[in-house]
Amino acid sequence: MFDYHIHSTVSFDGKEDALAIAKAAKKIGLREICFTDHYDFNSERELHHDLFTKAEYDRAYGDISISGLSIKRGVEFGLTTWNAPELGALDKEFGFDYIIGSVHYVKGFDPYCREYWLDKDERSGFLLYLERVLECVKVHSDFDALGHINYVCKSVHNPTRSPLFYKDYRELCDEIMREIARKGIGMEINTSGIDRVGAPLPDAEFLRRFRELGGEIVTVGSDAHNSARVGQYIPEALEIVKETFEYVCTFEKRKPIFHKL
Ligand SMILES: [Zn+2]
Ligand SMILES: [Zn+2]
Repeated sequence: MFDYHIHSTVSFDGKEDALAIAKAAKKIGLREICFTDHYDFNSERELHHDLFTKAEYDRAYGDISISGLSIKRGVEFGLTTWNAPELGALDKEFGFDYIIGSVHYVKGFDPYCREYWLDKDERSGFLLYLERVLECVKVHSDFDALGHINYVCKSVHNPTRSPLFYKDYRELCDEIMREIARKGIGMEINTSGIDRVGAPLPDAEFLRRFRELGGEIVTVGSDAHNSARVGQYIPEALEIVKETFEYVCTFEKRKPIFHKL
């Protein structure tokens, strides 16, 4: 089993250090994990960004080694419409194994927070988010998997607390998935939605359509920010992947490795 979306204290919102998380991963029988800390740009240039330095990253991961557990180094990069050059420079400096591209901010607000929803109902909130994801995947090509394509629904401030379903936003979702498939970028199944909205982000319907549109790469991750959640619902996610693909992917130095399911 693999968990390809984990945050340690290198992330601004990480709760536990990398060694504690890696030990927990080994204990529950994971074979490989990838740390993917937030390197996040607010969509508005002048606002606060959540970044880390190479020294902080190396201090956290430099010495970690656990027998029987492969530990990869990645990042969850916050996509905006203007930061493709920053991503290229960052990867050159760090030499990541794996890069998740995620959208966490729209017009300065994170849909996870109340402010985003103040002037929106569910539909307008979901639409605005997907439109921004589309804009971002059009300008970015240098990442390995799109993180939680329907992240916007995960917020406790989502007025209905229901998932964002593919069928309700078909056109935009198709455009996003067609664009990433065309660029050889994968789709992440993020299990953190299961406790929040009762479905992984995204669900099987998205994944089926992704394959129809030519998508070939799929990864799974818990989005754990502590050791208690590492690996959570990964078996369930792999069952969903298995319905559509015969394999799941891990990465080494930005190259996908296909594991038969
Ligand atoms: Zn995220
Ligand atoms: Zn994350």
